[in-house]
Amino acid sequence: SAKEKALTLAEKDKENLWHQISSYNEKKRPMVVEKGAGAWITDHEGNRYLDGMSGLWCVNVGYGRTELADAAAEQMKKLAYVPMTQSHEPAILLAEKLNELLGGEYKIFYSNSGSDANEVAFKLVRQYHQQNGEPSRFKFISRYRAYHGSSMGALSATGQALRKYKYEPLSPGFLHVAPPDNYRRPPGQSVEDYNLQRAQEFEEKIIWEQKETIAGIIMEPLITGGGILIPHPVYVKKVQEICKRHGVLLIIDEVICGFGRTGKAFGHQHFNIKPDIITMAKGMTSAYLPLSVTAIRKDIYDQFDTEEENSHFRHINTFGGNPAACAVALKNIEIIERESLIERSSELGERLLKELANLTDHPYVGDVRGLGFLLGIELVENKETKEPATAERVAKIINGCKEHGLIIGKNGDTVAGFNNVLTISPPLSSTDEDFEFIVAVLQKVFKENE
Ligand code: PMP
Repeated sequence: SAKEKALTLAEKDKENLWHQISSYNEKKRPMVVEKGAGAWITDHEGNRYLDGMSGLWCVNVGYGRTELADAAAEQMKKLAYVPMTQSHEPAILLAEKLNELLGGEYKIFYSNSGSDANEVAFKLVRQYHQQNGEPSRFKFISRYRAYHGSSMGALSATGQALRKYKYEPLSPGFLHVAPPDNYRRPPGQSVEDYNLQRAQEFEEKIIWEQKETIAGIIMEPLITGGGILIPHPVYVKKVQEICKRHGVLLIIDEVICGFGRTGKAFGHQHFNIKPDIITMAKGMTSAYLPLSVTAIRKDIYDQFDTEEENSHFRHINTFGGNPAACAVALKNIEIIERESLIERSSELGERLLKELANLTDHPYVGDVRGLGFLLGIELVENKETKEPATAERVAKIINGCKEHGLIIGKNGDTVAGFNNVLTISPPLSSTDEDFEFIVAVLQKVFKENE
């Protein structure tokens, strides 16, 4: 029976698998998921859940899209693989499509994961400065609380100590500044002033470190995994200005924000900036297959495109730009456009913010914020002091939602490693019924926990 099969699978899982982050815990054993359709996933025991996290922020078009499966299968039957030292049609068409979404001017370099894409960015920025006559520029600045990946370079850029300190020493030359956290800004300071001040910290760092040593800044348009920290537009503009003034390249990490999540094709498009480099992954294929991209401004690329072999970018990635993955990405973007999912993300996000605004009356809800279909609910013990809610309180809400069939996440790193920001980020293809379900469950669970 289904129940017996589920138990057998769970036993074999326990015996053989090592899951990401967590240790095995009988009470919290990982859900063994069997299938998905739309915004919903079903485990082997037949329990259904609305996936309010889209996996790890990636299944933007929802589950069960046979069109994507067909695109992969057709491509695999025709041509399974070409190394990207050569080329193939899906890679070419996808690069053209990405440039259309980005407003042109970029060269597209393929890899497999968000971490890979950021590593590519770091390596090519260093080489660019070397070949541009500034070999001393090797340092990168990123923000505390930000996540940029798990490989040694991307982890070095990550600003979450708990993910890092057991793996040190990491790559030298990665510096951090504090991100704007508008909810926790000093009392009495305007959001705009506070954001300008935070941006200014990049410039101070650059000057104190000697600007001739700074290669690049990497940041997400808004910090996602560090607590849904949405900057005032002056912040992003100012950071770009500082980069330009000091010859520092600006890398924007769109791994989560890209492909409609924030209500625009790319998160940085809210802020009217033109990044030098853009990295993307997750939502590009809605995670049906792994694929990532580092998009490099064409005039930076020119530095590498010379007769002299030694000035080429020495970076190989065997699976990067895999034909089936590129075909899936193309089809995925076609679905996003055909179903107006970027507009849908914006609409659903605004509606959800409105529906949840009344939660701030709840004794433990400090703040509700979001951009597109990416929302954060910050839980506190005390609204005056903003002391982060206890882990137990956060767990109660998350478990309560799960009992009612809704999966949500938690993030924040508000105090190192402390995650008191509930995170809601369902597929952009969620129906109105799904939407009502999300609202109803959240309202109910908060009520139960008053
Ligand atoms: N950048 C950001 C902003 C991310 O959220 C992630 C993954 N959560 C990464 C990079 C790394 O992506 P991957 O797990 O595909 O390596």
